[in-house]
Amino acid sequence: MAEVKPAAKALEDALALLAAGEVVALPTETVYGLAGDATNGEAVARIFEAKGRPRFNPLIAHVSSLAMAEDIAHIDPLSARLAEKFWPGPLTLVLPLRESAGIHPLVTAGLDTIALRMPRGFASGLIERLGRPLAAPSANRSGRVSATTAAAVAEDLGDRIRLVVDGGPTPVGVESTILKVEDGRLRLLRPGGVTAEEIEAAIGVAVERRDNAAIEAPGMMLSHYAPGAAVRLGVSSLQPGEALLAFGPRRAAGWERAVATKNLSGRGDLREAAANLFSFLKDLDRHGAKTIAVEPIPFDGLGEAINDRLKRAAAPRGEHRD
Ligand code: AMP
Ligand code: MG
Repeated sequence: MAEVKPAAKALEDALALLAAGEVVALPTETVYGLAGDATNGEAVARIFEAKGRPRFNPLIAHVSSLAMAEDIAHIDPLSARLAEKFWPGPLTLVLPLRESAGIHPLVTAGLDTIALRMPRGFASGLIERLGRPLAAPSANRSGRVSATTAAAVAEDLGDRIRLVVDGGPTPVGVESTILKVEDGRLRLLRPGGVTAEEIEAAIGVAVERRDNAAIEAPGMMLSHYAPGAAVRLGVSSLQPGEALLAFGPRRAAGWERAVATKNLSGRGDLREAAANLFSFLKDLDRHGAKTIAVEPIPFDGLGEAINDRLKRAAAPRGEHRD
């Protein structure tokens, strides 16, 4: 069971766990977050594993300073003004990712943009000490409501994680507002802790709401990364000219003929496979094969999310491409 520790005493423990690639539940001003080192793929995979998320949607990366944000993303002048006004606070900005940033592709679900936020309080101090950004979705099992107290986190995730940092009830109690600047216009991707009216009053730029469908399903309407190559799933035998995305110790028939091969996890470990998924798809795509053939991947644990992502990559363009 997770240890629940008051924030005033938990900093060193949280640091040690995060540095070791473990996940930690911690308070932010919005809701409790389930945090992992955003530069460590296995740590990010553990977040999805602990939440039992059936799909890889992009996560928010949390920073402790504007300088850290600038190392990670290109910040346009309007986004910079928003950050200046509302950080630290419950506002998340979607920004173009710097490739040099070292953010693990599982954080962004392979996208070339990243959602960034600077939280207040314990989380900020922790990130500063760690010197690396933390990926952190809400600290609850997938499909349950976000936790706003340490007790709620412990009840929901206590058997899956080692430490819950108790910072008392979270003051805002709802998720952050997500904004994206596009061609000098402000698009609201998700309503949250800062209202559109507050943003408009502070910045003098209109906030454009998306249609209802998009707001109902944050993360679902994103144009996710999809390889240029076609994707063929569950292959037991390779066709000429295909690249191979392998899994586990045994190869599909004809694997020697593959244009290129990447094994998500030679030992058949789903956490390792999740961490490798986006970068290996991109690597194979770069070889220019018409088709990426994918060996069967079990559906248990993180396998569900891995198979979900691959199914979307394999769907005819225009379908399943949220
Ligand atoms: P949470 O589960 O609270 O961490 O919220 C994550 C949400 O942030 C996702 O469901 C998306 O709606 C949004 N998000 C994260 N990254 C991006 C991105 N690169 N582009 C657009 N939206 C994003
Ligand atoms: Mg949530």
